[in-house]
Amino acid sequence: MHDGTAATLRIDLGALVANYALIARQVAPAAVAGVVKADAYGLGAAEVSHALLAAGCRHFFVAHLCEATALKPHLPPDIPLYVLNGLPPGAEAACAALGVLPVLNSLAQIDAWAAAARTIGYALPGVIQVDTGMSRLGLTPDELAMLRDQPHRLDGIDLQLVMSHLACADEPDDAFNREQRDRFDAIADQFPGVPRSLDNSGGAMATGVRHGDLVRTGIALYGGAPHGDPNPMRAVIALDAYILQLRTVPAGAGVGYGLTHRCDRPSHIATLSVGYADGWPRHLSGRGSAYIGGVRAPIVGRVSMDSMAIDVTDIADYLLYPGAPVELIGPHQTIDAVAAQAGTISYEILTRLGHRYARIYLPAPVAAADQRSGKA
Ligand SMILES: *Cc1c(COP(=O)(O)O)cnc(C)c1O
Repeated sequence: MHDGTAATLRIDLGALVANYALIARQVAPAAVAGVVKADAYGLGAAEVSHALLAAGCRHFFVAHLCEATALKPHLPPDIPLYVLNGLPPGAEAACAALGVLPVLNSLAQIDAWAAAARTIGYALPGVIQVDTGMSRLGLTPDELAMLRDQPHRLDGIDLQLVMSHLACADEPDDAFNREQRDRFDAIADQFPGVPRSLDNSGGAMATGVRHGDLVRTGIALYGGAPHGDPNPMRAVIALDAYILQLRTVPAGAGVGYGLTHRCDRPSHIATLSVGYADGWPRHLSGRGSAYIGGVRAPIVGRVSMDSMAIDVTDIADYLLYPGAPVELIGPHQTIDAVAAQAGTISYEILTRLGHRYARIYLPAPVAAADQRSGKA
């Protein structure tokens, strides 16, 4: 029976765990952290974190303190949960009470966290991020020099990690990766004995480099290509829309808002149950694809808010009926392929996945997960 949702989103936690294991082998002896910001890139932070925990993952990153607040109850109390975007002004007490680790991105944040530790009367765990050339977040070279001269500013902070972020990790041959790695190593030497973290998915899957103590992976866990083709990761999601209605139109008929598509032959048109309000890119109007029985059916006309049209003239009749499933993401069309056609990246396709989908989590094999956590 149809449940009235816009589409079915299958999330394969077995594939997620297999991707985790592949990255873990690649970066060993470094540990692999799960980056579960933005609701685990749209896949569900609680479900994804549970599966990763069972697979042996012991570190989790979110972007905002509000995300940490939501996820913290789902993690064992001793599992570190880091907040990438830093310590919001005035949130020191809340952050300390929640027991999460802020990524301290400036001297001001370091001072505020140290002051909070003095007020509370015990050391607070934290992370320092340094800017090694991306000019986004982290201490500047000037701030690092000041900190070198005034190390007491870290008093009260139990430094768990020094980290930075790669600007070009998706292109492993880019010379800037080497430059950032060298800068990071030099800066990290300023914090002897503190574990180091630099790599995201692209950095973690780079060969011939050292991966420090902890890599922070998001997209590769979720099946996105760390470096373009070929993609060594297993697909984690599959998205099936439904046919809402079918019609046969004469040559010359217009389709959709603005009648931007004109049929050049008598055509069968299927209206699908997914639109841009579900995160399906409107940029795929007149250019994207759906697949039925493994055969391509082009998107015709504009993607609407709640629906879109595909040309099914070349699809076998028995596959065409109201309620029939239509592959939007799956074996014939990866998240990277959809992203490339839409002029974006797989990250954006995932993080915009709709809220009107039936979400089905395929569990990871229990035995395999147990073995892995035993090894870790
Ligand atoms: C989002 C993010 C990551 C994860 O990046 P992926 O490319 O998805 O692996 C790692 N580190 C930082 C600082 C991030 O913002």
